[in-house]
Amino acid sequence: MSLLQVERLSKSFGAIRAVDSVTFEVRPGEIYGLIGPNGAGKTTTISMICGLLKPDAGQITVAGTAFWSDPQRAKQIMGVVPQELAIYEELSGRENLEFWGRMAGLSSADARARTVELLEALSLTDRAKDAIKTYSGGMKRRINLGCALLHRPKLLLLDEPTVAIDPQARVNILEFIRALRDSGTAILYTTHYLEEAETLCQRIGVIDHGQLLAEGTLGELQERLGGDRVFALEADFKDSSPDMWDGFQQRFRVIQKTEKHLTVAAIGTRDPSECLKELLGLPVRVQNVTLKRPSLNDVFLQLTGRDLRE
Ligand code: ATP
Repeated sequence: MSLLQVERLSKSFGAIRAVDSVTFEVRPGEIYGLIGPNGAGKTTTISMICGLLKPDAGQITVAGTAFWSDPQRAKQIMGVVPQELAIYEELSGRENLEFWGRMAGLSSADARARTVELLEALSLTDRAKDAIKTYSGGMKRRINLGCALLHRPKLLLLDEPTVAIDPQARVNILEFIRALRDSGTAILYTTHYLEEAETLCQRIGVIDHGQLLAEGTLGELQERLGGDRVFALEADFKDSSPDMWDGFQQRFRVIQKTEKHLTVAAIGTRDPSECLKELLGLPVRVQNVTLKRPSLNDVFLQLTGRDLRE
């Protein structure tokens, strides 16, 4: 049974359709990545799932029970890590965790014991007594994450947990999240960092303008673009472009074109060496051609026409 099922979920703010009939599920033992640019609808989706916002339409089911039929039960099953830090700067790491433990309904003895465990798992035991205001950005993110875990949720909602932290801190947090997944927590993970989604998530949903445009494993999403047959050309495309080349767009799908780069996927099952020959024969001076597996960014570009890295 899936831990979370979201069906045709919708929410508008005035004329803005922030979330537009979104359907997906998070299964036991998986990290499901919801990827999309700023304003795509990720936070609004999470806010509805955890009961902060009432959907205009659609159904949210947590471990088999409709969220709004028993919100208390749903909240016991899930932990939520908001994008904005929800911790008290004047209190210590330990005090923050114990506080959220009590808020989650733990006895004070249980909250204390679980806090010790979490501080250890988050590698923060030696800073446990220090006020949060003295922590680095990465440490604050870790405590923010820990605050959602006191009651051992089976389902964790993580809204861009690695925004604005340095690479080493990011690695630590991602390792911690992987360990949580391995110990049986199902995770919904929103991000606009594609590399994170590529390496962390078992399945990925691509969201833009409130709509879920595609979902699947990375391999399934890559397959939509023609498996491993994506060609990246470096050349001068100022005066010549694919729409000027006879029949080119029947044989190749253009993923991205700039003045100096062209990324295309071969259409149908074609021999890569034939494709290469054709690309090298184009009426432009080609400096380099590489054959690669499509990245998640290529998939995103194809689906939305936009580059998430911009
Ligand atoms: P980000 O990564 O920037 O947080 P996001 O994918 O989480 O982006 P949302 O925050 O869900 O996107 O926003 C989706 C759309 O809904 C945006 O156009 C946003 O401006 C709009 N929106 C979100 N919350 C509100 C609100 N309370 N009132 C009005 N519009 C809102």
